[in-house]
Amino acid sequence: MTLIEVVLGDITDEIVDAVVTAANESLLGGGGVDWAVHQAAGPRLAQAGAAIAPCLPGDAMATPAFDLTPPVKYVIHTVGPVWDGGAYGEADTLASCYRRCLQVADELQVRSIAFPAVATGVYGFPPASAARIAVATIRSTRTSVSLIHLVAFDQATHDLLVEATRTEDLSR
Ligand code: ADP
Repeated sequence: MTLIEVVLGDITDEIVDAVVTAANESLLGGGGVDWAVHQAAGPRLAQAGAAIAPCLPGDAMATPAFDLTPPVKYVIHTVGPVWDGGAYGEADTLASCYRRCLQVADELQVRSIAFPAVATGVYGFPPASAARIAVATIRSTRTSVSLIHLVAFDQATHDLLVEATRTEDLSR
């Protein structure tokens, strides 16, 4: 059983085993949620990222969480698609982000994980569609993770994620 909960807040405050960040291919740290995660984890996060980069769009890679508050043990870096109108596989790439993060989490025996709304910031993915893809992909991925927090940084994203969980429920 995997419980999905929608949360409003800062992902660096999450009390989970692993925090996902919306990274760029270099894993050196970017803006938005990646900036916040790197700030909280400290400079060793960029060093660990650089050692395993590049991470291609749709993929995910883990590092230790360094200075993030326990129980957070891992940061899972995933690289979303840069939105370019929707005809360039952006939806598939975004789905792959969520799937790969859960695979990596399983490999690390992570039981709880927090996701941001990957690709909906600077990368420009339409947030309603991204919310539906996030929920549908998580629901269709076999995983040992038992608690998934979908963390919205603003009320609009929160409401879209809640709506996506309800709509998906009805369609099952
Ligand atoms: P991307 O480059 O993949 O679009 P962004 O970091 O620009 O990534 O945005 C992804 C989402 O993360 C956006 O909805 C943004 O509002 C949100 N976000 C930004 N900072 C935080 C944070 N500290 N905690 C959770 N979500 C955040």
